[in-house]
Amino acid sequence: MSYKNITFPQNSIFLVTGGAGFIGSNLCEAILNLGYKVRCLDDLSTGKQSNIDLFINNPNYEFVKGDVKDLDTCIKACKDVDYVLHQAAWGSVPRSIEMPLFYSLNNIEGTLNMLEAARQNHVKKFVYASSSSVYGDEPNLPKKEGIEGNLLSPYAVSKRCDEEWAKQYTKHYGLDTYGMRYFNVFGRRQDPNGAYAAVIPKFIKQLLHGEKCKINGDGKQSRDFTYIENVIEANLKACLAPSSAAGQAFNIAYGGREFLIDIYYGLTKSLGIEAEPEFGQDRPGDIKHSNADISKAKQLLGYNPDWSFERGIAAAIEWYKANL
Ligand code: NAD
Repeated sequence: MSYKNITFPQNSIFLVTGGAGFIGSNLCEAILNLGYKVRCLDDLSTGKQSNIDLFINNPNYEFVKGDVKDLDTCIKACKDVDYVLHQAAWGSVPRSIEMPLFYSLNNIEGTLNMLEAARQNHVKKFVYASSSSVYGDEPNLPKKEGIEGNLLSPYAVSKRCDEEWAKQYTKHYGLDTYGMRYFNVFGRRQDPNGAYAAVIPKFIKQLLHGEKCKINGDGKQSRDFTYIENVIEANLKACLAPSSAAGQAFNIAYGGREFLIDIYYGLTKSLGIEAEPEFGQDRPGDIKHSNADISKAKQLLGYNPDWSFERGIAAAIEWYKANL
């Protein structure tokens, strides 16, 4: 079910950290479209000024340039806020293996600062980005909350620690926290550039520009690719979830399973391009298969995603064709 008829109390204020990034800017846009106020806190480390420029003339939008590693910044940003949607973090498994200390500071300390700031400001709900990487090497499919394996990267450690800290804030301070374990999100405004870009926007851009795409491994790895609209729905529904569901993390995915090689040929077909990929090494820290059991989010948050992979990829291709 779409989120477009969800209502919040009048004059509700949302804080979106990481709001200049891919998921955060889509959350800001959805909240503005629903008619509520949104404050975006972002240090622009991986986010883009263009994702702020989109909304800066909207009187319901406020941008604060700041770093979640700084507690005072977080406390000020949470003033008068009803709902926090905390997205600020650095992604990418391989980059986290190159810079573990930074991932600990940015992703764990940053989240802890935001939890503390939300507590001090009596925020109603704290919804935060976790990740499917917390399943580590757990081989069983579909992945189910409560059955996690050994963590495979500093990034996964950072997200697991965020979940543990959030649980503590629910348990000891009564802050309603909800962890969103996103599974490979894709859609409009996801950055196609750079060494750590996600595979779908990267392939679309490379194909449109006549460049060769490189698949790490044999292409037979599979993921539960999740369209951005489903992620927006999950975040907004978590803001209205009962306190009895707080202190937990939820799989946020579509519940499907796409193989990378099929995605590649699906993209070439949709774009009308004939090109073969190049195959490289498997990436360290990556798992072979991942797909989600979403029944917990359905049951406790009322999450009911209506954007299948096929519907989402068609929309994403259209967006990149118009915007690249
Ligand atoms: P993104 O890089 O597009 O956005 C992250 C935003 O956070 C950027 O705008 C960046 O500038 C900001 N940021 C980073 N560190 C900050 C700091 N210290 N202070 C303030 N702002 C900071 O990434 P995204 O794909 O939109 O991811 C959003 C969240 O979702 C992240 O927490 C990420 O780990 C998580 N996640 C994403 C996916 C996915 O498939 N995109 C999957 C699992 C989890």
